[in-house]
Amino acid sequence: MKAYDADVIVLGGGLVGSALALALRHSAHEVILIEGREPQLDWPVESWDQRVYAISRASQQLLAEIGAWAQLRPARLCPVSAMKIRGDGHSQLDFSALDSGVDALATILENRELQRALWLALGEAPNVRIMSGVQAQQLEISPSAATLTLSDGQQLSARLLVGADGANSWLRQQAGIEVKTRPYGQAGVVANFACEKPHYGVAQQWFRPDGILAFLPLPDQQMSMVWSCADALRDELLQLDPAALAARVAQAGSMSLGALQLITPTAAFPLRLNQPESIVRARVALIGDAAHTVHPLAGQGVNLGFGDVQELAQLLQQTPAERLGDVLVLRRYERARREPVLLMQTVCDGLQRLFDTPHPLVKAMRNFGLAATDQLPWLKRQLIRHAMDS
Ligand SMILES: Cc1cc2nc3c(=O)[nH]c(=O)nc-3n(C[C@H](O)[C@H](O)[C@H](O)COP(=O)(O)OP(=O)(O)OC[C@H]3O[C@@H](n4cnc5c(N)ncnc54)[C@H](O)[C@@H]3O)c2cc1C
Repeated sequence: MKAYDADVIVLGGGLVGSALALALRHSAHEVILIEGREPQLDWPVESWDQRVYAISRASQQLLAEIGAWAQLRPARLCPVSAMKIRGDGHSQLDFSALDSGVDALATILENRELQRALWLALGEAPNVRIMSGVQAQQLEISPSAATLTLSDGQQLSARLLVGADGANSWLRQQAGIEVKTRPYGQAGVVANFACEKPHYGVAQQWFRPDGILAFLPLPDQQMSMVWSCADALRDELLQLDPAALAARVAQAGSMSLGALQLITPTAAFPLRLNQPESIVRARVALIGDAAHTVHPLAGQGVNLGFGDVQELAQLLQQTPAERLGDVLVLRRYERARREPVLLMQTVCDGLQRLFDTPHPLVKAMRNFGLAATDQLPWLKRQLIRHAMDS
C-alpha cells in the first residue's frame, strides 16, 4: 500500500493554487490540486468578468514560464500604456510606459480568463491530478503526513499540504494558525462599463473624499471600475439602477471617458488586512490570500500571491520528497516572503490611512507629496520598476 496519495496537496484551485500546481509540473513530486468549484472554460464572447487584475511584469513572466500566458486569448488582454493618479486637491501623478522604457506598465485581464488559461495548462501537466467539485472538510496532521477528508468521503494524505484557499482560509483555521485581521469598514465595488470615449490603455485612479476610485482599461473601449469605499456608499451604489450608477461613476471619474454604460452586474467585496502569525507549520504552508491580504488600491493582491508561488515552487523543486513537509525547510519560504509582503501591506495600508483622513493639513501634505513626486522622473522610474517587478 502507498504511504502517501501525493507528495504535495494544494488545497484551493483559484489563481494562486493553480499556478503553484502548474509551477511544479516539471518537478519530481506528485501533486494533487483540490478545488471546491467546477472549472468554467466557456462563456459568451460578449460577456466580461467584473473581477479584473493588473498583472505585473514579474507575474507575467511567471505565468509565461509555467505555460499559462500562452493560453490567454489576446482579445481579452489590455496593456496599460500609462497611469494617471489624482489626489483630492488639484495634485496629480502620471506614469507612462514610454517614459519608463517598457512596452506596458502592466496588463489588465479578467479573473475568469486567467483561471481558464491556468486550467488549460494544467491539463498538460502529467504529475498533477485535479479533483474539482469537492471540499476539504477535515484535517489531521501527524509527524509524517497531512491527511484531508473530502466532502465525498475520500481521504487523501501527503507529505505537504499547501493552503491556497483564499482570505477566509479553512486550512489556516484548521491548522491553528492565528490571524490578525483589521477590517477597513470598506468594500471594493466592481463593475464594467462601455465608454463613450477611448481610454488609450490609460489606467486612472482618484483619491476622493468618499473613497478610492480606479478605472482599468479593457479591450473594445470598455473599462473596469474598482471603487474602494465605506460600507454606506457601497450600499448606496449597489442600490442604484444601471443608468444611475453609470452616471454616478462617470461623474466621479470627471467624465474622462465620457458617458458610461453598465455592461456587467455590480459586485462588492469586503476589504480587510489579514496578517497570519505564521505562514508555515510542520506539513503546512500558506500561499496567496490565505497567507496575506492587502488593500486593492495598488492592485497588487494577486501579484503578491504569484510571488509566493515563485518562491515556494523553487524551494519545493530543490527539496527531496522525504523533506517536503519539514518545517525547517518551509521556514526558508516564510523568511523569503516576509519582507515583500510586509512592505506591500505597509505601503497600501499607509496610503489608505493617509487618504482616509479629512484633516486639512494632512490633505495639503498628501497632495503636495503627489505633485512633488510627479516632478521627480528618477523617483517615478524607481516606483514603476518596483511595481512592475513585484
Ligand atoms: C475588489 C478587489 C479588487 C482586486 N483587484 C486586484 C487587482 O487589480 N490586482 C490584484 O493583483 N489583485 C486584486 N485583488 C486581489 C485578488 O482578487 C486576490 O489576491 C486573489 O484572487 C487571491 O487568489 P487566491 O488564489 O489566493 O484565492 P481565491 O481566489 O480566493 O481562491 C481560493 C480558492 O480556494 C477554493 N476553496 C476554498 N476553500 C476550499 C475548501 N475547503 N475545499 C476546496 N476548495 C476550497 C475556492 O473555491 C477558491 O477557488 C482584488 C481583490 C478585491 C477584493
